[in-house]
Amino acid sequence: MGTCKECGEFLGGSASIKDYRDHFKICPAKNPEWICTDKDAKQYCKVISKTEFEFKERGTNKVINLNEYSSEKTEEEISGHYNSLAQLKEYCNNDEEEINLVIAECIFENNFAPPR
Ligand SMILES: [Zn+2]
Repeated sequence: MGTCKECGEFLGGSASIKDYRDHFKICPAKNPEWICTDKDAKQYCKVISKTEFEFKERGTNKVINLNEYSSEKTEEEISGHYNSLAQLKEYCNNDEEEINLVIAECIFENNFAPPR
C-alpha cells in the first residue's frame, strides 16, 4: 500500500483514498499532457517548450532545460545511448522536437532518474 500502481510514486505509508484521488489529478499516467517515455521504468515526460522537458519517474520530478547544456556537454550526455549527435538526428528523422526530447531523456536518465 501507499504506492501509485500507475506511475510508481510513493504516496506515504498511510495513504488514504483521498490521498489517491488527489494524486490521480496530477498522476502522469492519468493525464494526457504526460507522454510515457519508458513503460518499464514508469518514466513520463511533459513538453514545456521546444527546449524544456519535465520528467517524472516513480516520484522523481525534474525539468531539463537544454539551453543549460553546451553542445560538448550534449554530445557527452548522449554518448552512452547513441554513437553521435548525427546518428541521433538520423534516428529521429531530423525532427527537432523529437531530437530534443531524446537528448533531454538521456540527460534525465544519466543524472536524475531514480535507480532501476
Ligand atoms: Zn500515479
